[in-house]
Amino acid sequence: MKALVLREPRPVEENPLTSVDLPAPEPAPGQVRLQVQACGVCHTDLHLVEGEIALPRLPIVPGHQIIGRVDALGAGVTRFALGARVGVPWLYSACGQCNYCRRGRENLCDEARFTGQHADGGFAQYMVVPAQFAYAIPAGFPDEQAAPLLCAGVIGFRSLRLSEIEPGGRLGLYGFGASAHVAIQVARHWGCEVYVFTRSPKHRRHALDLGAVWAGQAQDTPPAELDSAITFAPAGWLVPEALRVLRKGGTLAINAIHMSPIPEMPYDLIYGERTVRSVANSTRQDAEELLHLAAAIPIHTDVELYPLQQANAVLQRLKQSKVRGAAVLQVA
Ligand SMILES: [Zn+2]
Ligand SMILES: [Zn+2]
Repeated sequence: MKALVLREPRPVEENPLTSVDLPAPEPAPGQVRLQVQACGVCHTDLHLVEGEIALPRLPIVPGHQIIGRVDALGAGVTRFALGARVGVPWLYSACGQCNYCRRGRENLCDEARFTGQHADGGFAQYMVVPAQFAYAIPAGFPDEQAAPLLCAGVIGFRSLRLSEIEPGGRLGLYGFGASAHVAIQVARHWGCEVYVFTRSPKHRRHALDLGAVWAGQAQDTPPAELDSAITFAPAGWLVPEALRVLRKGGTLAINAIHMSPIPEMPYDLIYGERTVRSVANSTRQDAEELLHLAAAIPIHTDVELYPLQQANAVLQRLKQSKVRGAAVLQVA
């Protein structure tokens, strides 16, 4: 099979992914093998490829927003039939036994493994995954539009939940890439007013097209105080900016696996019982709920589609904030 592998982390401008021919993996007991159709490209892939987050296994095939067809079943698998269309997100497996797993917080499991970090991901024609950590994809989404739901969508949904935004509330989104463009659709479905802060004029326009009531830059002051906010850009200086326009008792959720340092800030910004929390990974329940909601709303993802072999160029586009919506590699 064709696959793109990372042998050692390097800046994306140096084209760190190389195209290789590998034998297709065989599914172990409990696993399914997918013939990959499409795979989204995420900021986490960028952090991985550039070595900003841990690389426990090299070489590795990145990619964790995978849509594929089941083409081989490991022993004991009954969750999917051959030919089923399924999706694979960032959470590849969790231990199922630790205190986190037993309390519904498998996203925090110390033994959790992640797709494209501990196990080969979807920048390849085939991949294997534990059947219990793959999901049926609702009909009605073409493969390329479903792919970004698996991480951008799922983690955006978890961020919304952790931001404690309530129906009809005022929500701020900082950064407007793949995840925020899905989150705004869920927030609008809940009747929220959405305020979007981004440097990119194109992204501001995109946000207004998707129903934001206001779009500006992080240094701007919106016309109303926010009940909740989510930062999507990995920039620590956004934290005091977001707190500055958050009402007392409000929550700021930080959706970032890696972030530049948060600057020193006056205690006044957090006083008034404001909460700052990070969002880490996601659970299987998050994925099931988001996919269900995506079909019900329905969510429409804006995608830029590229051939698998252009993954390096796509990562560069992502780094430069040039992607409108989500970038997806067409594999099959
Ligand atoms: Zn666990
Ligand atoms: Zn991701």
